[in-house]
Amino acid sequence: MEKRVFNFSPGPAMLPLPALEKAQRDLLALPGVGISMLEISHRSATFKNIIEQAEANLRKLLAVPDNYRVLFMHGGAQLQFAMVPMNFLRGTGKSADYILTGSWGKKAIKEANTQGDTHVAWDGESANYTRVPKQDEIQLNPDAAYVHITSNETIQGVQFPSEPDVGDVPLVCDSSSDFLCRPVPIERYGILYACAQKNAGPAGVAIVIIRDDLVQRAPNDLPSMLNYRVMAEGKSMLNTPPVFAVYMVKLVTDWLLGEIGGLDKMLELNREKAQWLYDAIDRCDGFYDGHAEPGSRSIMNVTFRIADAALEGRFLEEALRRGLTALKGHRSVGGCRASIYNAMPAEGVRLLSDFMLEFYEKSKK
Ligand SMILES: *Cc1c(COP(=O)(O)O)cnc(C)c1O
Repeated sequence: MEKRVFNFSPGPAMLPLPALEKAQRDLLALPGVGISMLEISHRSATFKNIIEQAEANLRKLLAVPDNYRVLFMHGGAQLQFAMVPMNFLRGTGKSADYILTGSWGKKAIKEANTQGDTHVAWDGESANYTRVPKQDEIQLNPDAAYVHITSNETIQGVQFPSEPDVGDVPLVCDSSSDFLCRPVPIERYGILYACAQKNAGPAGVAIVIIRDDLVQRAPNDLPSMLNYRVMAEGKSMLNTPPVFAVYMVKLVTDWLLGEIGGLDKMLELNREKAQWLYDAIDRCDGFYDGHAEPGSRSIMNVTFRIADAALEGRFLEEALRRGLTALKGHRSVGGCRASIYNAMPAEGVRLLSDFMLEFYEKSKK
């Protein structure tokens, strides 16, 4: 087999090796079925079983209450940017609150503005999106249609340590880049959605966890594929779902429940991995400039600059030679970013933190 490198890409990102191996083993013919997962009918009993197991795994991992639906949808996270306001803002005469902590939140607002009025309840721009707000800084409208947050801003590396208090207004969360990285009190959310390709599977499917009363509130005059109620009634099978991507979500969640042992354990491992990198940043006398403020640091995307920017090219080059790839920051903010999702092995993070310390020692002379 070709050697695998440590891929620090923000997404699509590394998948757990046991999930990839299982998919490889069964790629040509599913045991007892004789058909590839890439060929099988979405109406087959086999696939019905797989999508049900994927849902059951997610419900178990996140302790999803019975009054929530779990949907598998097309269109990635960005379709949710549009579907949320289409279903719950357009035509209500209300406005929606957005707590803005980085680039993805900004895109979510842009899409919502095509459907209705939005209000930015807090804007991290003046702090260059280095932190999440304190509760008393958020200016919530008690009559808002919903409040939207991005639990982890992938580009800035800023993560909410816990959800803000939004009273009785439904809390809507783009959890694309920290989905399944820790336990989450689902009952505090109206909708929690995530594209799969950061932490839950390959590109091609998005997972939407949505409370029943919101599902029922979806308007009648939307195209079926854009209507949460129709999608829920059709059990995510209104048309052909992304069969292989759902299958991979099933394998990834099998791994989380089995080899890892649940989200408490996953959180422990993720905290440890992130701590190695933040320690490297903090221990090098300002050589590395961490982007996020300590209380808002993401355990999924570690963002930093090399204070002497002229060294950045060499840093990335040398990292690459050690099999540490995709560490360049997003083109909009520059610098470096290590995306260390669930499937990034501890060994990869250890190699990177050792390399960071070594590169600092070598460069300071
Ligand atoms: C990657 C990402 C998205 C975009 O997802 P698509 O599936 O490409 O639409 C949205 N929000 C966050 C927080 C992300 O990390």
